[in-house]
Amino acid sequence: MRKVFSRLAYEGLVRIEPNRGASVARPSVEEARETFAARRAIEVTIVRKVAEKFSAKQKALLARHIAKETAAEVSRDPPAMVRLSGEFHRLVAEMSGHSIYLGFLKELIARSSLIILLYRRHDTPACGTDHHAGIVTAIRKRDKARAGALMLSHLNEIEAELFLKDPAADELRLADVLGA
Ligand SMILES: [Zn+2]
Repeated sequence: MRKVFSRLAYEGLVRIEPNRGASVARPSVEEARETFAARRAIEVTIVRKVAEKFSAKQKALLARHIAKETAAEVSRDPPAMVRLSGEFHRLVAEMSGHSIYLGFLKELIARSSLIILLYRRHDTPACGTDHHAGIVTAIRKRDKARAGALMLSHLNEIEAELFLKDPAADELRLADVLGA
């Protein structure tokens, strides 16, 4: 948990104060929607680029990542599943070789992790391994249209799983959100 806090603090999303512990500026419903809109715009472009051009080493990296996600799912390890979900999106962005998109996306992924924690309806991690595996299959086939379409529906589905209705509270303790 400490690791999560310090990473979020690093991303500028959490403040750690000596007496109050970690607190977080709660993203509003509008900001949550904007975050996913930005991810769609960036990640569809990125995944199409990757499907067009990737190395044998990158292909192996993707396969290894999917194996790790599957292992975490089989052993019912939600924290690992959440972490690996974020890593998948970052890995694909790194493979695109587009440093500006990668920089934007790192921030968007950190923001999304927080949004998912705050607005999720269920306890299940938002990204399904089967979705990621489908995207990887499309990349391996160099089918950029399908890779883009799958990434789009994947991000739409994550957003649809969230409960983006209640008016934003100003601030809340991250520990309350995480049940820690
Ligand atoms: Zn995902």
